[in-house]
Amino acid sequence: MDKQEQLGELKKKMFLDETLPLRKGASQLVFGEGDPESEIMFIGEGPGYHEDQKGRPFVGNAGAFLNQLLITVGLDRKKVFITNVVHHRPPQNRDPEPAEIEAYQFYLDDMINIINPKIIITLGRFSMGKFLPAARITGVHGKKFEVEWKGKKKIVVPMYHPAAGLRNPDVKRQTIEDFKGLPGILETAKKEVESEKKEEAEQMTLV
Ligand code: URA
Repeated sequence: MDKQEQLGELKKKMFLDETLPLRKGASQLVFGEGDPESEIMFIGEGPGYHEDQKGRPFVGNAGAFLNQLLITVGLDRKKVFITNVVHHRPPQNRDPEPAEIEAYQFYLDDMINIINPKIIITLGRFSMGKFLPAARITGVHGKKFEVEWKGKKKIVVPMYHPAAGLRNPDVKRQTIEDFKGLPGILETAKKEVESEKKEEAEQMTLV
């Protein structure tokens, strides 16, 4: 099964999972979208009103700002993968609770495993907390972190949530600056992926 098919199976499993805690209050599942072969994955918080209506992540005002940020740094939204820590809309857009994040984590982890991105860009504190539990967003936004996640080396870049930028002009300016650092980080990461693949191939020939 290729990555697209594996994601399709995972989505089906999620759709049928009646234990998911936010399911009853939501209109539909917002699984995530994008290129399953991408080296870049964006993880937000959870669907809001517009996402819940359309079944797609980041399609409201925060999504419009995210799209603008992606364009600014030459990233095609269709060539990255975008998802959230919870995949049903929390009632009245409240913050997801720890038990809810935990319930969806199984699926998010599977998604990350399937896509296997080299770079994970977290949008907001909830997804940041998954990889950098001790970090505070004000001190770390836009910086690059090497993280070992389930035995694999990942680069995690915590960003402010786009909605925070819409509420606060200083955060907006900062987020635009932080995104400008992404092309350089991506370039380095691509080289790392290439050398990792080369190393793997060399090890295979030794076996
Ligand atoms: N905010 C999020 O965190 N995720 C979305 O999909 C939309 C808004």
